[in-house]
Amino acid sequence: MKNIDPKCKQCRRLGEKLMFKGERCRSAKCALSRRNYIPGFHGPKQRPNAKKSDYSRQLAEKQKARKQYLLSERQFRNIFDAAAKKIGNTEELLLKLLETRLDNIVYRLGFALSRSEARQLVNHGHFTVNSHGVNIPSYRVRAGMVIKIREASKRKKKFVGVEARIKNAEIPCWLHMNMEDLSGKVLHDPAVKDIRSNIDTHVIVEFYSR
Ligand code: SF4
Repeated sequence: MKNIDPKCKQCRRLGEKLMFKGERCRSAKCALSRRNYIPGFHGPKQRPNAKKSDYSRQLAEKQKARKQYLLSERQFRNIFDAAAKKIGNTEELLLKLLETRLDNIVYRLGFALSRSEARQLVNHGHFTVNSHGVNIPSYRVRAGMVIKIREASKRKKKFVGVEARIKNAEIPCWLHMNMEDLSGKVLHDPAVKDIRSNIDTHVIVEFYSR
């Protein structure tokens, strides 16, 4: 079921910045910085270090990852199952499958300030991958592929000032941005050490292995 909680409340409930609102999340206006307690009447009275059961800790970690990447329960479970089926370390593969979604890469490259904005831009067909239009947010981007804003979209209001946005973005080492033609390239698959993430995939694997 779609979560219709206001976005900042979702962060406060989990006690983690899920970065739904772009610039605001990095500013002093962030609701979690101002009210770092669970929303609701009893929120301020809750003990922050109250002992949690293993299950609630694992569930919270899974929810944090799922919400950050804007996935439904079913979508997240499918990605986990795909990671578990592959040969290799499931924790690393899970993170890799989440990171190499097209909407996430558009966000990481700085074309958008948040994953929700990135998803909307992809859905509206503003990007090409290897010169072909792709409007599927879950599209798996592989090493060597090049992501660009469609020529016809470059003049759109949404992309005014995009150069400044990209310059301010912390582009991870597994991606490269060519500022001359504003194209982003996946240099190689991300390794866990390359991914800025507050997600403990070990706990998520524990959750699904119960
Ligand atoms: Fe979460 Fe961003 Fe709201 Fe802060 S501003 S609580 S990080 S959505």
